[in-house]
Amino acid sequence: MSEPADRAPKQDEPILEVRELTVHHGQLRALDHISLRVFPGEVYAIIGANGAGKSTLLRTIAGLHQPTEGSIRYDGQDVTRIRPERRAISGIVMVPEGRRLFGSLTVEENLQVGATYARKGPWTIERVYELFSWMKDRRAQRTEQLSGGEQQAVAIGRALVANPRVLMLDELSLGLAPVVVQRIYGMLPQILATGLTVLLVEQDVSQALRVASHLQCLLEGRTTLQGTPSEVTPEQVEVAYFGLRSPGGPGGTEGGEPPVSGVGLGGVVPSEEAR
Ligand code: ATP
Repeated sequence: MSEPADRAPKQDEPILEVRELTVHHGQLRALDHISLRVFPGEVYAIIGANGAGKSTLLRTIAGLHQPTEGSIRYDGQDVTRIRPERRAISGIVMVPEGRRLFGSLTVEENLQVGATYARKGPWTIERVYELFSWMKDRRAQRTEQLSGGEQQAVAIGRALVANPRVLMLDELSLGLAPVVVQRIYGMLPQILATGLTVLLVEQDVSQALRVASHLQCLLEGRTTLQGTPSEVTPEQVEVAYFGLRSPGGPGGTEGGEPPVSGVGLGGVVPSEEAR
C-alpha cells in the first residue's frame, strides 16, 4: 500500500467504501452483502439491536475479521486483504466495544500505547488532555481505578493520538449513564473539527440520531434502512431496528431497501438537534 494517509481525500469521493460485504463466524452469516459509503467529515452511524452485526462490521473494516465476499476501499485503495496494523497506521482506528484498556497501566501509559504507531497529525497526548480537562491531573492513575465514563474517554484519547482519518467508535454508550454518554458525545464537534471522519455503532438510537449525518440500520446482518436523520421517520427506524412488519407494507427487513411504511410505535423521535 502506498501512503494514503498523506493524501487529502476529495470531498466528493468516499474516504471509506464497503461493497457487498459478507462475513461469516463459522456457519453464521453475521453480515450479508452490506454496502456503505462514508464521506470525509461525516458522522456515519450504524444502528441495530444486539447481534445485528454492527461490531462485526467495524471489526472487519479494521481488518480483524476476513470477509467471505465483498471489498473495503479506503481512500480509493482496496484494503480488504491488508493487515490490521497497516490499516491502523494508514488511519483507520477503532475504539473497541468495552474500551479494552490496559487496566494495570496508567492513563498516560495507555495513551502512549495509542501513540506508538501514530501518523503525523494534530493529536498529541497534550491535546487529549486539553479535550478532557480532568485527565492530565489523573494521568498517573491506573485506568482500572477510573469510572466507566472516564475509561471511555481514555479509550477515545488512545485512538485520537494515533491520528486517525477514520475514527470508528463501537458502542460508546455501553454501560454508561445517559448524562455521561451525552458528555462523551458532546466532545464530537471538537474531534471533527480536526478533520476526522467518524463511523460509529450505537444501540442507543436517540443518541445516534442526535449526532449522525447519515444513518444505516442493520438487522440480522442486513441493511434495513438508511438515510439522513431528517429523511427517516421514527416509525421507519422502529420497523428497521426491530424487524417489525407494518400492517400496511412489507416492513423492509429483507435485502437492502428501506421499508416503505412504519408501524408508528412512537418510541424514537428524531429531534431538532438530530443534525
Ligand atoms: P452487540 O451489540 O450485541 O455487540 P452487534 O450488532 O455488534 O451486537 P455482532 O457482535 O457483530 O453484533 O454479532 C453478530 C452475530 O455474530 C451475533 O449473532 C454474534 O453472536 C455472532 N458473533 C460475533 N462475533 C462472533 C465470533 N467471534 N464468533 C462467533 N460468533 C460471533
